[in-house]
Amino acid sequence: NVRTRFCPSPTGTPHVGLVRTCLFSWGYARAKGGEFVFRIEDTDAARDSEESYEQLLNALSWLGMTWDEGPDIGGPYAPYRQSQRLDVYADVIKRLLDGGYAYEAFSTNEEVEARHRAAGRDPKLGYDNFDRDLTEDQKAAYRAEGRKPVFRMRMPNEDIVFQDAVRGEVRTPAGTVPDYVIARGDGSPLYTLTNPVDDALMKVNMVTRGEDLMPSTPRQIVMWRALVDLGLADGEPEYAHLPLIVDERGKKMSKRDPRSNLLQYKEAGYLPEGVLNYVATLGWSISGDRDTFTVAEFLSAFDLHDVKSNPARFDEKKFDSICGDHFRMTDPGELTRLLLPRLREAGLIGESPTPAEAHVFDVAVPLVQERCTTLSQAVEMLRFLFCGTEVAIDEDSAKKTFKDDAAQVLDASIAALEGIEWTTPAIEEALKGALVDGMGLKPRKAFGPVRVAISGKTVSPPLYESMELLGAEVSLARLRAARA
Ligand code: GLU
Repeated sequence: NVRTRFCPSPTGTPHVGLVRTCLFSWGYARAKGGEFVFRIEDTDAARDSEESYEQLLNALSWLGMTWDEGPDIGGPYAPYRQSQRLDVYADVIKRLLDGGYAYEAFSTNEEVEARHRAAGRDPKLGYDNFDRDLTEDQKAAYRAEGRKPVFRMRMPNEDIVFQDAVRGEVRTPAGTVPDYVIARGDGSPLYTLTNPVDDALMKVNMVTRGEDLMPSTPRQIVMWRALVDLGLADGEPEYAHLPLIVDERGKKMSKRDPRSNLLQYKEAGYLPEGVLNYVATLGWSISGDRDTFTVAEFLSAFDLHDVKSNPARFDEKKFDSICGDHFRMTDPGELTRLLLPRLREAGLIGESPTPAEAHVFDVAVPLVQERCTTLSQAVEMLRFLFCGTEVAIDEDSAKKTFKDDAAQVLDASIAALEGIEWTTPAIEEALKGALVDGMGLKPRKAFGPVRVAISGKTVSPPLYESMELLGAEVSLARLRAARA
């Protein structure tokens, strides 16, 4: 039974790397019919913030990810917040010390560096395992000096090898990782302890995390082995280290890169299905020839063993193109439901849509859907249908189209449209007759001024349909206003 976990520290924003780790852990558990555990690693009070936690939950619930166990819903291995598990860690530290897997170390950094120097080694080599075999008398002497020890894990004198689902065999040669600190002198545990201990106690058997955390893995393996010895863990987990996410210059995408905070796409009106789809392509693909897929498709096809190890490039164009696909794939009724609060906020409609407004949605949303990527773009494109005769004309659009024979075009249009039956085909026929046949204009050029007069912009939903929706009175008033 596959058990994966997502175990963020509540710091910073819900950035793309974090969300991808969550997505891949969730996806793997769902694809394999396993369980997905959500745990909060909040033992660093100085860096952790409730605001970060809330933002993360907001992002994950927007994206539709759900867990089977977690701080909000409990589960068989509760609590799922590390700040509430300090007694668990204290007990494990004691067992590790009693079993000789860990020991008290009294050396200061200065002493370690001085010893390296004295032996002609690089002083920055790191801890030299000096305190491994201190006698009780030596420890007592240090204590008498007022020193407080830290607790260090004893690394074995052998290569540490593991199979990574993404990168295959990973080997750390013996002697390259010094004994490492698992708890401070006051007993407060560090990530090096709490993370593998909780994974073990929560029976996680697939550990998914970013490649940047790879250096900690040999240490965690040694911790797991000790926990297995002590009867606290069943067996070692599998690991999947996800590839780096890089920007267009191939540099690691910073958490401070404004594009990396995924919550902003919610506010900008991107659909969560599109964002989730894009994030899933960062290191994985569903097939060679397509990038767009549904959540359901992802959840049945995803496998951590198919993730590629080379860096994944954050590509804004691809992001928009996938999000646009999802915008078009959404049921128009559902899209209307999502648009209503934004249309209300923009002051374009009242509390509940009138029948006339509902009709406009039925006709216009499918048209707008073809031309937009986000809800806010759709609101802007729908705006002209809800503002009576007073449409705001975009300056650039006016400059581009209200020139040359624009005045004649508008006059001819008004003359041709007056009194006709107000339907899409009749409007089309009248305008084409007057401008293309009558004035001999090319369609592109002919309809520019009309489009801008009607919609305020050079880009709009199809013109004739829009005019039918607006009605004869409003349409003619806009044409006359533009002429004036
Ligand atoms: N709390 C750790 C972090 O946010 C978890 C890393 C891991 O998955 O091991 O970086």
